[in-house]
Amino acid sequence: MRDERRVLIESVLLSPRRSAVVFFLAGAIAGLGVLPGWHGSHRSLVVLLILITSTLAGAGIWWAFGDRIPAWGLQVSLVVSIVIVSVAAAIGPSARVNFAVLYVWAAVYASLYFRPVAVALQISFAGIAYVVVLLTDHTSLRTLLVTWISIFGTAAVLSAVVFGLVSLLRRSSREDPLTRLANRRAWEERIDEEMERARRSRLPLSLAVIDIDNFKAVNDRDGHLAGDRLLRKFADGWVGIVRGSGDFVARLGGDEFGLLAPGSDDAGLQTIVGRLHGISPDDVRCSIGAATWDRAETAADLFRRADEAMYLAKQNSRKT
Ligand code: GH3
Ligand code: MG
Repeated sequence: MRDERRVLIESVLLSPRRSAVVFFLAGAIAGLGVLPGWHGSHRSLVVLLILITSTLAGAGIWWAFGDRIPAWGLQVSLVVSIVIVSVAAAIGPSARVNFAVLYVWAAVYASLYFRPVAVALQISFAGIAYVVVLLTDHTSLRTLLVTWISIFGTAAVLSAVVFGLVSLLRRSSREDPLTRLANRRAWEERIDEEMERARRSRLPLSLAVIDIDNFKAVNDRDGHLAGDRLLRKFADGWVGIVRGSGDFVARLGGDEFGLLAPGSDDAGLQTIVGRLHGISPDDVRCSIGAATWDRAETAADLFRRADEAMYLAKQNSRKT
């Protein structure tokens, strides 16, 4: 049960579309929360009801059609949210809530899911919108500055923290901590991307599976730390070879690595494999199997062919 709840929370957090439903719903609840005992004018109550309805509609749209709305819809949605927050803030704070606080939500949402430029643009838009709101209120310049800074100072600091943490998590969840190469998760995403790119560009795509020979013996003889050092030496050596060529190296687990070579056909791949064999720290060698995409097989089938070729190469190297 606890696991199911965790999976649900993670699935919402990881999906900007599901998260949009939650943010819109929470905004509507904040609006509904100030309705009992409303002291403002009748006109502002009508405006507030319209805003609550729009926010509920936003939640409904993302809930019903979220999967079909393209990514730019999220940007548009946040702009609309900022306009809604601005109109709500212009109604004026009630005894219970100052709607300008919801700008902070917008900033947090942008930092969770958008790229740096989009985050900066959305927060700037919100900042300008709030200046307009405060100007229409005819507050003194001093009050305007203090109010604006309290809201956008909070938004900026929270944004920076959330953005930094999200970037760190994103990087560390896709990187192998020992070798600093991409990990299996990043590898699988990259294969799909490269296949899609190769399909569109009609360029070849090749893949190699690399496995270190007798690695266990290194661990047994020289210790686990020496084994770790060797893995790092191999990784650094291969990265040095492929750097800048558009090829992609990842640690798939243990002493197994993968290389994706977009744009390389069989002949090109053999050249790369020859260069990879040139890396043999402490005279330890590795076995490499390679395959070029036949443009019909799945990523799993392409990988299997390269893996089988690697095992064949390993058996041959044992015979010699
Ligand atoms: P083969 O020539 O058939 O590839 O044999 P091998 O000894 O290289 O491979 P095997 O699959 O038998 O063993 C791989 C070993 O790699 C087993 C495991 O203890 C070790 N290993 C896995 N991950 C790490 C790691 O992060 N650091 C170190 N030092 N060893 C690791
Ligand atoms: Mg091995």
